[in-house]
Amino acid sequence: MHFGKFGEKHKVSWWKRILLLLLLLAIPFLAASPRHMTARMVADSENGTKVLVLNYHKVDNMNISLSVLPEDFDEQMSYLKKHDYHTITPAELYDSLEGNAELPENPVLITFDDGYRDNYDNAYPILQKYGFKGTIFVITSFLGKYPNYITWDQAREMEEDGTISIQSHTVDHKSMTDLSDEQLRTELVDSKKQAEKELGHPVDFMAYPTGTYNLHIAELVKEAGYKAAFTIKYGNVDKASNIFALERVPIFHTENTNKDFIERIRYVPIFERFGWIKS
Ligand SMILES: [Zn+2]
Repeated sequence: MHFGKFGEKHKVSWWKRILLLLLLLAIPFLAASPRHMTARMVADSENGTKVLVLNYHKVDNMNISLSVLPEDFDEQMSYLKKHDYHTITPAELYDSLEGNAELPENPVLITFDDGYRDNYDNAYPILQKYGFKGTIFVITSFLGKYPNYITWDQAREMEEDGTISIQSHTVDHKSMTDLSDEQLRTELVDSKKQAEKELGHPVDFMAYPTGTYNLHIAELVKEAGYKAAFTIKYGNVDKASNIFALERVPIFHTENTNKDFIERIRYVPIFERFGWIKS
């Protein structure tokens, strides 16, 4: 009898210990709840403001992963608007990383790679509707050559009203890790020059074709006169980022595009908190 009572007592305190342990283990996860994450992480980060850089390719009805449906893109922009995100340009991002400017709360840089014609037909009017800014990294030799890419006239038109910033995605979109230094210089320098000639302003930013780069290529990017370069490394940008290998969050067409969109942008800070990205 007595022994049994003792056993029961012991059992209760054992379970209490387990509960306490579970609670302690859960604290970092509770604190990292995505709902409260974005704004709080922005304020708390030791490395300054965390900047979300979205990466799109096509915005049309092709039903392939690189092609977000126009209505989904519209809903995603509406989500950003409702959640008080503020769109910025690559120059604004650069100035803030250099410590020369303050970014608005919840900054987001919306980028498109390659320069597809549907960016002009579909994404541009949606960005205008929300008063948002976007950036298109163009493959300079494709403009005016292939009908499924924007033209320089369209590029200029989108820049003129302040909606779009056009930047470089090299001359030919070759995978950079396969090129000689001479070819790399041509891809980097010629695309910059051509875009600057067509657009009439400095082109200071580039995105690596297919996201592939290494530190040597990054050095050549710097040598070519760019101020910063974007990869498809998943994460948010902050002062700890390599300015010539900036993180982005790629957005795809999926079975549940808009749910995945929200999860992708909410979970970046959690991954970073556990050191799964930058370390
Ligand atoms: Zn590309």
